[in-house]
Amino acid sequence: MTKNIPLSFEFFPPKTEDGINKLRETRAQLAKFNPEFFSVTFGAGGSTRDRTMETVLEIQQEGFDAAPHISCISSSKAEILELLQAYQAKGIKRLVTLRGDVPSGEVSAGDFRYALELVEFIRANTGDHFHIEVAAYPEFHPEARSPAADLLNLKRKVDAGANSAITQYFYNADAYYRFIDQCATANINVPIVPGIMPIYNITQLARFSSVCGAEIPRWLKMRLEEYGDDMVSLRAFGVDVVSELCDNLQQSGVPSLHFYTLNQAGTIEKIIENISN
Ligand code: FAD
Repeated sequence: MTKNIPLSFEFFPPKTEDGINKLRETRAQLAKFNPEFFSVTFGAGGSTRDRTMETVLEIQQEGFDAAPHISCISSSKAEILELLQAYQAKGIKRLVTLRGDVPSGEVSAGDFRYALELVEFIRANTGDHFHIEVAAYPEFHPEARSPAADLLNLKRKVDAGANSAITQYFYNADAYYRFIDQCATANINVPIVPGIMPIYNITQLARFSSVCGAEIPRWLKMRLEEYGDDMVSLRAFGVDVVSELCDNLQQSGVPSLHFYTLNQAGTIEKIIENISN
């Protein structure tokens, strides 16, 4: 088995002093895996703009590569340009570049409709400064007109200058492998890194999955529901399932693994230890 596969970890920007301190501890725990980078999400419509930047700069000051997410929906070109220039001036070199979801009740969608336009805008205004990551969907984005249209969207983002993609999470490894084959056929020749969601809580996971279109397979959902309030057993089972998924992906030769941490380290540490032994 391959050891020391490259890893990256995604955080959300904390709101409170407690959250900031907890994230510092989480980072310290995950730092031992020598990640390629830590990324920090960006709230819909720029709602976390300042907190995303503060978190990213703190990570950078600790000596790690930090990648802010940047989403374009509801933003003007002037706002995005200002943000790009600020990151460029701070020496940030990698961006996770997204459309974002339209906040409920939002009237104006801003100057951008799709992530493709943001990738084009970043390349037009900052040249090759940033390594651009985009989102990819092995089980297809919920708004995609068809699987072929979703694949074409990824191809356009890559042709416009994206350097790599991170996938939405999935528990069906076959969906990822088929997606990778289709990308190869479509001449999408950039790394497509699996996004890994640890299992912490069935209610939360079901909520995320209903929004983003990631399937929780029936066997997995029923097993998780059976644990009821027994969170200790549920998490132990979740560690087994996700470790097996990561092991399978690692053995198939994926370029790296990107973990959606939800700002927690313990479960992920167990998964990484399982796949490193
Ligand atoms: P796009 O690539 O623009 O695609 C959106 C949809 O539009 C797809 O269905 C696509 O097929 C369709 N489409 C594209 N072009 C056209 C066209 N011309 N005509 C018709 N349909 C079209 N969200 C956040 O708000 N903040 C974050 O920090 C964040 N981080 C994420 C990180 C990762 C790794 C992933 C996978 C997702 C993340 N998201 C985040 C969620 C993301 O913003 C949503 O999934 C969003 O709905 C789509 O973003 P996108 O960049 O994939 O959009």
